[in-house]
This record gives sequence, structure tokens and C-alpha cells, in this order.
Amino acid sequence: MICRVCDSTNLELVIDLGHQPWCNHFLRKEEVGNEPFYPLHVLFCHGCHTSQLDFTVRKEIMFGDHTYLSGVTKSLSEHFRNVAVEVDREFFGGQKQKSLLDIGSNDGTQLKHYQALGWDVLGVESSKTTAKIANDAGVPTLNAFFNLETLRGTGRQFDAINASGVFFHLEELHSVCEAIREGLRPGGVFVVQFLYMKSIMENLAFDQIYHEHLLYYTLETIEKLLLRHGLSMFDAYLAPIHGGSIIGFVTRSGKRPASERLERMRAEEQRANCNSIGAYREFAGRIERMKDENVDYLTGAHDAGKRIFGFGAPVKGNTMLNYFGIGPKVIECLVEKNELRRGLYSPGMHIPIAIESELKELPDIYYVLAWNFKKEILANNRQLLQKGIEFYFPVNPKESA
Ligand SMILES: [Zn+2]
Repeated sequence: MICRVCDSTNLELVIDLGHQPWCNHFLRKEEVGNEPFYPLHVLFCHGCHTSQLDFTVRKEIMFGDHTYLSGVTKSLSEHFRNVAVEVDREFFGGQKQKSLLDIGSNDGTQLKHYQALGWDVLGVESSKTTAKIANDAGVPTLNAFFNLETLRGTGRQFDAINASGVFFHLEELHSVCEAIREGLRPGGVFVVQFLYMKSIMENLAFDQIYHEHLLYYTLETIEKLLLRHGLSMFDAYLAPIHGGSIIGFVTRSGKRPASERLERMRAEEQRANCNSIGAYREFAGRIERMKDENVDYLTGAHDAGKRIFGFGAPVKGNTMLNYFGIGPKVIECLVEKNELRRGLYSPGMHIPIAIESELKELPDIYYVLAWNFKKEILANNRQLLQKGIEFYFPVNPKESA
């Protein structure tokens, strides 16, 4: 195994979540029990400090036909609108014609906000179903994996390139970085949005570790990767999305000086010492203790005769359920808005999905797997809370949408 970022061979196993199924693929009835399991191990690179998985599920399996839709979640769409408005105002205010490429554009939620501001947009999305949803909604979208070849196929350069929550799960990392540099017009801006490993550690949000997320970045580690490809970050801030994500602004190296808030965040990161092997060892110990606490709580409530439903069926929920070994005996169903998941079962633990609007009974406890939308969930479910239904959050994020 060599480091995906710096090619060092000095890697150390820090987090072992056992073998887990590909957690983005919710199962049809006939697939239950036939799903393959893969190792889920996080390694720490002593060379560049980037933490990463040691096993890569082939990208055709990972991203060929997923059922995750950005547009389903209101707070995510609002976040995307804020980013679009900010990028437009801060960097392209007076410009009449402006173009944007979105890598992993999903159902076009991010691009619609740019279209509303007069941008000429193009999405690249690997899932056929999702790309079709975007095209049908009037967002031009290529059904492809983004890399140098895809970029050259467009024959274009762009004023801005966006990558939200995909940058860390790209198998062809170096080809993608080269394509970003080549695809930016001079003075263009790359907007990179990624889960912040410092927040993951602080929140104990280990469920963000799954096969799709091949790499876990801090500012220090992503900046090393970008520099290797002639790109550098000049501004960034922490947004509450996904429990703590960095929104970073990147351009060709040497074009813009680092902002004050970026310098401040870099300093905070160094103070928190989260790029050290010690921080990862401590994190691993806290994950084990969290498992004991949650399994005790869930089995205790179940034994006391309480009915427990999962709230949300996010991909990350499967990491948690599989690592805890909690199945349909304890959690009867996972309640979900996304109708593409009707009739499906969670990979590994085989908990059936129930669609929120079709629910006939209510539980005593909602175990909230979609904890990153804590604020939105509590606000939307005041009536259930008043009825005495408990909402249990296994992760309580400092930053919540
Ligand atoms: Zn490395």
C-alpha cells in the first residue's frame, strides 16, 4: 500500500471498522444476504499525515448507480445557494458571461442555484439515474466519471469549478486534480467542499468513514495535495453542513494571498494537533467506547419493550449500524423521505426502509442516523416531540444544519 497523496509507504493502521458492505447500495429483497463485504480500515500516512482507506471498492460499483439525491434535503439546498451567491458576488461580481463546471453534480441542486444567477453550467455525474433527473430538470449534465479525459472531451475551460463532497472519494485523484487545473480559466476559482477531519474527530462522527470516502482531509493535508498539482487554497471557512465541512477557495498557485480567516483556521488546526498519529489513536479509543454506550442504550430500550425506528437512512448510518451490529430485531425500520429507496433494505444489517409519508405507526424512540440535520429534524418534528417520542442522537455535532 502506498499513500494516495504522497506515495509514501510509511502507513499505519489506526481505525479498524471490520468488514463492511458497500454502504451506498440499499438492497432489493433478492439481494439481501448476497452483498459482498470489504475491509474498512483507516490508515495514517506518516509522510503527509493524510488519513485514508486501505481498500478501494471499484468506482463503477461505488458510483455507477447510487440513489442519493442532494435536492431531498432542504438545508443542503440552502447551503448550496449560499455558496453560489457568495462565489458569484465575491469573485465574479461585474462579469456578464460566466461558466461553471460541477464535479459529481448529483441531481443538479448546486447548479440550479448558479443558473438562477445567470451562469452557464455543466454537470458531470456518474450515476445514470441521477444524471437523467438533472437533465430532465434542465441542468445540462454529462453522465461520466470526471477526470482529465472527460475534461478534454468537453473542449472547454471554466470560470469556476465546484466539487462538493466528492473530492475525498475520487479514485483517480491525481488525474482529477490535473483536470481541475487545466479546466480553470486564468484567474478561475475552484470551490472545494469536503468533510473536515478535525470536526469528525471533535464530534466523534466516525460514521463518516465508509468506502466512498477514500481520504479524510484537514487543511494541512488537502493543501499538500493541491500544491502538488500547482493549486493553492487562498480562502476557506467552516460550514455546518454534514456536521462540519470546509468550503475552500482554490486557484493556481501564487495567484492570490491567503485570507486572514484561512490563516486563523490553519493556526487552530495546528493547536488542535489533529494531524498527529496520537490524535488518531485517541479517536479510535473513543469510537470503541461509543460503541459500548450505544449498544447498551439500544438493547436496553429494546429489552424494556420500546419500539425503535431509525430516523433517516443516510449512507453513513450503515457504517454505524454494521459496526455496532444493530439489526432489525432492535431497530424495526429506517424512516426515509427519498422514495427511490422504497422497499429496500439496509446493506449488512438488512433493516427495511419505510417512507416517512406512508408510515402507519410511530415508535417510542427515533434513533437519528441523519444526525447532521439535527436542527432541521428537531424543528420539523415538534409535534412528535410533544407526543413524547424520544429523538436519540448518537452524534451531537457542534455544527449542525
Ligand atoms: Zn502520504
